[in-house]
Amino acid sequence: MAMIRTAEPRARVRALIQLQFLLAALTGLSGCTTFRVASESMFMISPEEERQIGQQVKSEIDGQVQFVNDSLVVNYVRDVGRTLVAHAPESAFEPQFFVIANPEINAFAIPAGSIYVHTGLISAADDEAEMAAVIAHEMGHVIRRHSARGLARNTGAQLAGQLLLGENYGSMAQLLSSVGLLNYTRQDEAEADRIAVATLHRAGYDPDALATFFAKLKERYGDRGQIATFFASHPPTTERINSVRAMVDQLPEAEYRRPTSDLRRVQKRLEELGFAAE
Ligand SMILES: [Zn+2]
Repeated sequence: MAMIRTAEPRARVRALIQLQFLLAALTGLSGCTTFRVASESMFMISPEEERQIGQQVKSEIDGQVQFVNDSLVVNYVRDVGRTLVAHAPESAFEPQFFVIANPEINAFAIPAGSIYVHTGLISAADDEAEMAAVIAHEMGHVIRRHSARGLARNTGAQLAGQLLLGENYGSMAQLLSSVGLLNYTRQDEAEADRIAVATLHRAGYDPDALATFFAKLKERYGDRGQIATFFASHPPTTERINSVRAMVDQLPEAEYRRPTSDLRRVQKRLEELGFAAE
């Protein structure tokens, strides 16, 4: 461990990624899983390193997607996001929120906290609590540093190395998998759902909105199939919906809101701007 500690954090990240790749290769050759299990704790990246990776990913995304810059839309998503942040568990990172012009029903977080919401998600939500539920779930991945853990599990370590060395990416999926985003485990998903339910509850949004949104998507897409990145690893199965409902049932009684008027105004603006729903 001492040999990869250098004064310059970025050099350390690079050395660490190269070591991870070497380790992954060795593990693959020997077929031994001991190294793989050991590597997560040995090579867990620091919040500062995660910030650097987040910056790299952010600049890749900046060059690959079309953002919505309309202030009504962007401010709305940021206001909902800030409300959730104020009621979420403590985090090493302060999330920033962006809106991507894409009809796919999706939202995703990158290392160190930036959260991207697709116009398709905004259009598909029946009320503000449903959109907030998906954002709060993504915040759960950020707060618990799931993509850093995914990276530490060696998944996509070679690609992550390329990312840090400034090489080009072929596709968004490749980019996202390189930082562990498509490698969330079932436990990661359950943990993010738990954080979402607790955060919605504290923010006064109806936490059952996470279940109703999952149920709607399940109805629309089935247990698998054409489901967006958000659900790629663990789709909204009946089991998942039931476990969200069980978490909601354990909460103390509360007055919840499911506002619609601001969302309707934003959905109308998206239509006017030509961002039709899928
Ligand atoms: Zn997730």
